[in-house]
Amino acid sequence: MDKELNTDIKAALLSIGSAQVDKSLLPDKLESKATAGPGAGGSSIFLKSGNQRVRLTINDASPLRVVPEDEHVVVLKNDDVVARGVLERPLCHCPEQAYITLSEKCVYDCQFCPVPKMHGGVKDSAKVIQMVEEAYATGELKAISFTSGIAVSPKKEVQRAVSIIKQLTSEYDLPIGVSVYPTTGSSEELYSAGACEIKYNVETMDPELFRRFCPDLSLYTILDALDTAVNVFGKNRVSSNFIIGLGESDETVRKGIKLLTNRCIIPILRPISPHPLRKNVKITRPDSARLLKLGSMLKDMLDHESLCVDKSRTMCLLCTGCDLTPHKDI
Ligand code: SF4
Repeated sequence: MDKELNTDIKAALLSIGSAQVDKSLLPDKLESKATAGPGAGGSSIFLKSGNQRVRLTINDASPLRVVPEDEHVVVLKNDDVVARGVLERPLCHCPEQAYITLSEKCVYDCQFCPVPKMHGGVKDSAKVIQMVEEAYATGELKAISFTSGIAVSPKKEVQRAVSIIKQLTSEYDLPIGVSVYPTTGSSEELYSAGACEIKYNVETMDPELFRRFCPDLSLYTILDALDTAVNVFGKNRVSSNFIIGLGESDETVRKGIKLLTNRCIIPILRPISPHPLRKNVKITRPDSARLLKLGSMLKDMLDHESLCVDKSRTMCLLCTGCDLTPHKDI
């Protein structure tokens, strides 16, 4: 298929990150609403071709347009075809996973994240189990993943995740991944409950930017917790979102990747998304050249430590929709 996704095409699409979507494509449950992190509140589509996938936020002001073409769709820019593929059906949040946000609210106030401004709900275990059941019934479910804002305290979120995971492991033989803010003992508790992968997000490895963007959190607590997580979950089972576009230099990114990979933590380089609820925050989505440069830097450092992203079984490293993911896209 001409214009199948490849490294360069995916980088070009990610640098924009959004698309207008022909209305005729949307009724068939092809739309997903994000409920966590910097993209929360937006609706997206997932385009797949070959073995690659990209998530694009639906935005009527985007320079990209997704339109039907025979049994495929094409992505157009200025009427030129830039990519071809099919739209994938998200289960909960993304294709092939029940990726569920437990608390859609947060008492912290990271400046790039809309969740604290959205005051969403908290799902009880009955609701979560029902969502997993519905995703399982499609026959497409490969993994269960959880993330959460902080409704009351990090400890309470970990306790809730532990209790839900224990209920699910008795019902489903599927890998379970968790991304929460760490607490003392969270890795041990989540692993004992049945989780196989963990993600604690550093957000940025620039300490000054971290203080500015995440005033309520501690980068050193997160790094300590990641070290513990590697001891508990093992190599290739621990990852961390590292946002690109907060004002960090490429050298800071290089040093940050090196520090994380040296400790057997897989960084996920996540292009920042501007959000209407955070209009006053200065961010710059990286262009495709920067995504390619940092992506290949990351791949080299993962290879140096023999870290294998393609062993990942849950969360963003399985999905790959938002990022140029080493060993899958680059
Ligand atoms: S890469 Fe992660 S945040 Fe992006 S759509 Fe996939 S699971 Fe969601």
